[in-house]
Amino acid sequence: MTSSVQLNPDIVVRFAPSPNGLLHLGHAYAAMVAHDFARARGGQFLLRIEDIDSDRTRPEFVTAILDDLRWLGLNWDKQVIFQSERLDSYALAADRLKEMGLLYPCFCTRSDMRKLQEYDPQPEGPDGPIYAGTCRHLDPDLARKRAATEPHGWRIDVAKAIAITGPLKWTDERHGAQLSHPERLGDVILVPKDTPVAYHLAVTLDDTRDGITHVVRGDDLFASTYIHRLLQALLDLPTPVYFHHPLLLDEKGEKLAKSRGSASLSVLRLAGHSGHRLLQDFRQGIFPVGISLS
Ligand code: GLU
Repeated sequence: MTSSVQLNPDIVVRFAPSPNGLLHLGHAYAAMVAHDFARARGGQFLLRIEDIDSDRTRPEFVTAILDDLRWLGLNWDKQVIFQSERLDSYALAADRLKEMGLLYPCFCTRSDMRKLQEYDPQPEGPDGPIYAGTCRHLDPDLARKRAATEPHGWRIDVAKAIAITGPLKWTDERHGAQLSHPERLGDVILVPKDTPVAYHLAVTLDDTRDGITHVVRGDDLFASTYIHRLLQALLDLPTPVYFHHPLLLDEKGEKLAKSRGSASLSVLRLAGHSGHRLLQDFRQGIFPVGISLS
């Protein structure tokens, strides 16, 4: 931070990676944007490890994240936060939404959903086909009985929730004033069958708990904000300002992804490249060959 920037306790930003793989160049860019956003305003930069999915989380990925960020020269304030240490608070919030009658158990398996999509295709949402609402229509007594013995997740009844909150607004510093459209994602899962909480609920609760004033993250999560804004309204949580930044794309114009084998930061780090130099280039709009900004 340059000495001319005044500290401003009213700005708190976070980087919130999921330790289910190695970070790649897209993460380096995302971490840098969030870090620089905070530092340029004299704010704090927090690191939150989103390790709620115990099947996919691995300790070596957590270690690699910390090493990669240090290699990039991105220092965070305070202790690293781990979502896995906060499971009780997620369960309490889910209970509150259940008491409000806004969650319903969902027994659909992935294969049920695939079959349904084949025979009765549902409109595509930002994160895949919108849930058809099969379990929303179950008789409540039957659903309760089944829930006692059958594996199930919990979905939010978005139409019912919107009827309570009415229209909701939020501000994106890059994209301008926004009206929330949670119906575009449909009845998303908030408590999955096999993990204690889903991303949407955990991230919304934690952004409040960590005092995040500005949520700085990639455009790929823009639509998720519709659900986060809805949950804030339902659970009486404050709404931070958002800043959804552009994404790094590969030569095919696709977002870099762990699953597509994009080069990991660890490989570059262990090969002796300079993380500082990489970010110096990013800050000047210079990207490796084949990589561009969306
Ligand atoms: N943990 C999420 C991810 O790695 C990001 C959460 C967020 O920034 O809201 O994609």
